[in-house]
Amino acid sequence: MSPFFDQMIRRFSKLRIIASTKMKFALVAMVALAVAGGAVTMTACIATGRSASGARLEAMKVSPNWRDGKFANPLPSEYPSFSRALGKWLRGTDNTVPESPFPIVKRAASDFDVAPASGLRVTWLGHSTFLIEIDGKRVLVDPVLSERPSPFTWAGPTRFHEIPLSIDELPEIDVVVISHDHYDHLDHRTVQALGERVPLYIVPLGVGAHLEYWGVQAERIVERDWWGEVKLGDLTFTATPARHFSGRSLVMAGQSETLWSGWVIAGREHRIYYSGDTGMLPAFTAIAERLGPFDAVLIETGAYDQLWPDLHIGPEQAIEARVELGSGLFIPVHWGTFNLANHAWTEPVERAIVAAEKAGVPIAVPRPGESIEPASPPKLTRWWPSVPWKTAEQEPIVSGGIEQSQPMDLEPNGGAR
Ligand SMILES: [Zn+2]
Ligand SMILES: [Zn+2]
Repeated sequence: MSPFFDQMIRRFSKLRIIASTKMKFALVAMVALAVAGGAVTMTACIATGRSASGARLEAMKVSPNWRDGKFANPLPSEYPSFSRALGKWLRGTDNTVPESPFPIVKRAASDFDVAPASGLRVTWLGHSTFLIEIDGKRVLVDPVLSERPSPFTWAGPTRFHEIPLSIDELPEIDVVVISHDHYDHLDHRTVQALGERVPLYIVPLGVGAHLEYWGVQAERIVERDWWGEVKLGDLTFTATPARHFSGRSLVMAGQSETLWSGWVIAGREHRIYYSGDTGMLPAFTAIAERLGPFDAVLIETGAYDQLWPDLHIGPEQAIEARVELGSGLFIPVHWGTFNLANHAWTEPVERAIVAAEKAGVPIAVPRPGESIEPASPPKLTRWWPSVPWKTAEQEPIVSGGIEQSQPMDLEPNGGAR
């Protein structure tokens, strides 16, 4: 063979080697991306849950709040524009997360061996997760006992503090109550980890479809519309109106396909109100008349913004809601654990304390993990650091449409299993 051909063959072989190596890399990269993409999609699919169908969907369609294939607020409510919300987020806000760790109360199952002396004890586990011991039963509300309120373990807001009471350390639970299907209230990882340990889930219409998809048998799920009741022994659970929305989809599709609500839990001796997520709405007087008086009210206080004042109530209106409810120790929730809005992380309680003092409303601000018996509330202790925050005058949060609206007193609609 001539040196020329010899050289050509060597060059050609080299090219083939280079090409095939590159192709192999490309192929491996494509397969890796497909596997990773598939895993992400799979995780997202599990997390996003499932839409209701069959009898569950039929029960939703007869709700007075079901309109054009989804649930709607009775009061017109403004949703923030994505571009304005993004613009504000990009401009940034100071002190939205704590600079250093703050003290929490680490709890174990044995802490709950002795029943509360008064018959009612509330243990705040951060954000809107709390354990209520009421007249002999244990109720776990909106349990988010994993690291992030997110479909992914590697993306989304991280906790400000460790989980005060792990799933393994939970005492025996009689029932779990859910307010709506947003990730910071309904956590698929927690539901799957709880497994068979929860005898009953009480949820607003449509939320049961997610639970079933995550392995909870239909017999362990009860759904209700606003004002619908569930009896469990001597306890009565009543879903109450709220002004919010719902949805777990990562795109904007599928919003508000499940209902959102607050809950009143009433026993032989005690009554407690939890707002879920809500803007201001003219329902608190009706809630108090039908279901009060209350020993404690847990009202969402954080994650507000002037861009979405109809959907999150804000500290001053939260206190106003308590005034309309007419009774109960005010315990702020939906703050102190995740960064979900453009305000200093301590601002919700700073402003709630100012508003409560003005209105003469009793308030308790537990640390994450701390238990409170509303019959003997602890003295207010400022366990959070002093960082700059905006006052109600500087950044008022005022829900729209309240003055023009009629008081809400919808007829009960029991919903369906
Ligand atoms: Zn929400
Ligand atoms: Zn929320």
